Amino acid sequence: TAPASESDPAVSSVLTRELKRQQDQIELIASENIVSRAVLEAQGSVLTNKYAEGYPGKRYYGGCEVVDEVEEIAIERARQLFGCEYVNVQPHSGSQANQAVFMATMSPGDTFMGMDLAAGGHLTHGKSVNQSGKWFRPVAYGVRQQDHMIDYDQAAEVALAEKPKVIIAGGSAYSRAIDFARFREIADSVEALLMVDIAHYAGLVAGGAYPNPFPHAHIVTTTTHKTLRGPRGGMIMTNSKKWAKKIDSAVFPGLQGGPLMHVIAGKAVAFGEALRPEFKQYARQVIENARALADSLQSAGFKIVSGGTDSHLMLVDLTPKNVSGADAEIALERAGITTNKNGIPFDPLPPMQTSGLRVGTPAGTTRGFGPAEFRQVGTWIGEVLDGVAAGGDNSAVEAKVKAEVLTLTKRFPIYS
Ligand code: PLP
Repeated sequence: TAPASESDPAVSSVLTRELKRQQDQIELIASENIVSRAVLEAQGSVLTNKYAEGYPGKRYYGGCEVVDEVEEIAIERARQLFGCEYVNVQPHSGSQANQAVFMATMSPGDTFMGMDLAAGGHLTHGKSVNQSGKWFRPVAYGVRQQDHMIDYDQAAEVALAEKPKVIIAGGSAYSRAIDFARFREIADSVEALLMVDIAHYAGLVAGGAYPNPFPHAHIVTTTTHKTLRGPRGGMIMTNSKKWAKKIDSAVFPGLQGGPLMHVIAGKAVAFGEALRPEFKQYARQVIENARALADSLQSAGFKIVSGGTDSHLMLVDLTPKNVSGADAEIALERAGITTNKNGIPFDPLPPMQTSGLRVGTPAGTTRGFGPAEFRQVGTWIGEVLDGVAAGGDNSAVEAKVKAEVLTLTKRFPIYS
């Protein structure tokens, strides 16, 4: 059959232009990364043709003997990476991984506790518009006003008062090391299950640069496409045989039908890459780079929520410049730097405006940036946003930075 460039010029053009966009801009979105050619190859493979409902050795379809192998490889590699017994690699996304844990551990109406979205939690941890918040009864802990660190004392108090069945640690915009042992103590004090969602930190955990939630967590969920640098998808891990069985049933047939075998192959490839010594170096470099970027942004006059970072990401508090996150995101995009607006703790502005910007170093580090490049990025962000703060026409500054960004990205090419 003909290649997409001939058979479908409209979609083919999107593929080409998106490749160029990724090559030419600086990706600071903390939840994104740049996968290897081997991961792309697995995802673009004939495994997309295969139905394999069930689990290796227990399928509802014939012809699964080959794809069984790749699911077993993915599981075995994940067990090694995270030091756990049981792994389900089938969730189509991080959200579905979390839904499956909810289904396995709770009934609709049950109380659970998660980090407030405004403090850095995730939609699936109890936001009212999400199934977790609509069908279950969420209670929340947050961060302390004085230092933006998780308020463990508050979490303990809320747990005692509300007796949640499940406690969730982990989030999407929390940059600091989480004390998983403390969360387990809190969970044990009310006989709750501890679920840790390491969607953001998984690659850092795998690389030994961020605390491992095991052995403290009963159940760990993650995405595979952020710092872990695999295909888009989810995964669930546990050391408990009982929970493993319930989780498997919740993923299939509870929530999903056929697993995406091409994506599972991509997960296997990414986990293989993460087991190599170079990945430990990558994880350390991601954090060193994040500290350099935080430093540079502070020098440019921004505040960093909590004063710094222990991970790949940080929240930039834009209030000293009197610029909104929405305006900052748009101006930076014009200058070739991709970020996302994000609320900061106790943000006075609404979610579509925000006083903050979330930035991260996983993608830049993959293309080879070191601390010097990230310091430069911080300086550029300062130049562009100082221009926005001054009001008036900012196009000359944005064009100058965009040209400099292009020179830098050409020095660190991707997919060339
Ligand atoms: N959990 C956390 C902590 C996340 O940050 C995310 C993604 O942003 C998810 C779950 C959901 O992952 P997905 O976008 O794959 O559904």
